Amino acid sequence: METDASQQATAQLAHLVDHFVQHPTGRRTGRGAPVRSIENTAPLNIDAISHIDASVREIRDYMRTESPGTLEPLPADAAAVYDWCIRNTETDDDAARRRRDAIIYRQYLEHCILTGDVKVIRTHRCPDCGTVGLHWNPPFKKALCRNIRCKTPDGGLQMWSLARLATAHIEAHEKLAARATLNGSGVSR
Ligand SMILES: [Zn+2]
Repeated sequence: METDASQQATAQLAHLVDHFVQHPTGRRTGRGAPVRSIENTAPLNIDAISHIDASVREIRDYMRTESPGTLEPLPADAAAVYDWCIRNTETDDDAARRRRDAIIYRQYLEHCILTGDVKVIRTHRCPDCGTVGLHWNPPFKKALCRNIRCKTPDGGLQMWSLARLATAHIEAHEKLAARATLNGSGVSR
């Protein structure tokens, strides 16, 4: 059974992910993340709650490896974990930041799938052919490209893991952000 506390924590964590997705490349994304009321949040299933726990553990383990010098302890509140992770890796290099962002975004995709929101997959492009409208394939737990000409080298259907989609998503947003910066300033550094 879900407790009110776990529902609230999971809802808040999901919201932090939403917030992150809206600002996927921001180094200061976690700072000042808004706190949401949980009134409009659908109850989460057991798998989704287990996934929240696993996500927190993954972020903790990631930080132990990537940022062992972090003095600030892991927050007890699950909803504050992404904020903590982002705040304590602000000065990391681009490659490390990209890895971190891809993990968080992949966790978001996993959360969406577990709560029945498979439509989120359709918004992504195939990392190979660029076709928009990937399809979620439950038996394989992968996103399927709908372009019939897009095949693997051995002629099979092209399918992508959520981790691969997340990496592609973060890279694409980074390019967009870089282009926007250039266009905005009119000056390349
Ligand atoms: Zn494709």
